[in-house]
Amino acid sequence: MTQIDPAIARLIDEAEGECRPFFDRLEQIERSNTHRVLASFQKHRVSARHFAPTTGYGYDDIGRDTLSAIMAELLGCEAALVRPQIASGTHALALCLYGALRPGDTLLAASGRPYDTLEEVIGLSGKPGSGSLSEYGVKYREIDVLEDGRLNLAAIERALREDASIRLVELQRSRGYAWRPSLSMAQIGEAARLIHSIRPDVVVMLDNCYGEFSDFDEPGAVGVDLLAGSMIKNPGGGLAPTGGYVAGRRDLVDLVSYRLTSPGIGAEVGSYAASYQPFYQGLFMAPHVVAQAIKTAILAARVFEKLGYAVNPRFDEPRADIIQAIRFGRSDSLIAFIQGIQLNSPVDSEALPEPWDMPGYQDPVIMAAGTFVAGASIELSADAPIREPYIAYMQGALTYAHGRCGLEGALQYMKDKGLLAL
Ligand SMILES: *Cc1c(COP(=O)(O)O)cnc(C)c1O
Repeated sequence: MTQIDPAIARLIDEAEGECRPFFDRLEQIERSNTHRVLASFQKHRVSARHFAPTTGYGYDDIGRDTLSAIMAELLGCEAALVRPQIASGTHALALCLYGALRPGDTLLAASGRPYDTLEEVIGLSGKPGSGSLSEYGVKYREIDVLEDGRLNLAAIERALREDASIRLVELQRSRGYAWRPSLSMAQIGEAARLIHSIRPDVVVMLDNCYGEFSDFDEPGAVGVDLLAGSMIKNPGGGLAPTGGYVAGRRDLVDLVSYRLTSPGIGAEVGSYAASYQPFYQGLFMAPHVVAQAIKTAILAARVFEKLGYAVNPRFDEPRADIIQAIRFGRSDSLIAFIQGIQLNSPVDSEALPEPWDMPGYQDPVIMAAGTFVAGASIELSADAPIREPYIAYMQGALTYAHGRCGLEGALQYMKDKGLLAL
């Protein structure tokens, strides 16, 4: 165990006291979502037979189909696909785009540049010949968020009125690797209503990564047509070992299922020779784990604010995801912080992460993920593209107590390196 400097312990105690009132609202959200999850499990009569492994084609895989039905309900949607075969959040999002868009259609990214890994999917970067949407004749337009981070509704409206080829509007709920506020459910709902009032046929698609169970409402309930996320982030509750999900309107989820497997076969196949039990149990745990993660994020925000760093969101601002951005302003402090998180993880705590060229990202990225499920960012983790102004994005913690320990340890590591003035 690292010895923690009394000044660091004091700082964290003080910050925690100031955070307490904001934890209350999180506990209300946790209760409300736990109630919804419980009701859905009971309605679908979840029992041991749903956990059973399947093999081969997986026709009538009741564990897979019931899990998907529960997920659809929890997200306020008609249908969903929850699959271990969806390899990541990026894969789930790409399935949505390839499923819903056709040659000649335009994809409008309406909350600014989408998450880094989608650039190669869209064809904004990456190897020519890799089969990006652009190579299939899908056009791309982008509308940046306003100065204050809100959606530019006037520009979205203008684009929809002047460009009949727009078929899908993509929104990203979470900040991703950007210094902007995350989108609230209220804002997403307002945009969906506006878009549908002008063009009822346009698909409102949401990158829901990191947003699940962070609020009372879920996207399907506010007018989102299609959304996707990763099962090793929020909705897997730290227990799902792999996978992604897509949810939305039934006709759109069908289209996505044809990309996932093949036209004509869609969602009918796909077996899983391990147990579905961790997916069910993880989904059950998810409202609690997400609350633990957001408490950790709030504490980190307050601690770094007190140390004089810019943070986003601030500790007392509303949250729509589990991410906490901290601006370090210099690469050595940033790297020390990320390494400090790794050194205070339950797994691979002796590994010192270094920046590397990760597939799908434009700048070298450094990541701390000393996690039970490899790379699971619902567990305490932190990452950063190495670019100015050197912002770390930290997220997760299966328990708030570990979130706090990790933070303490990371500060201590920075101090030992002479990179923390108290
Ligand atoms: C994590 C994330 C993705 C990509 O998910 P992966 O599972 O890492 O492929 C996309 N969008 C956002 C906002 C994310 O946070």
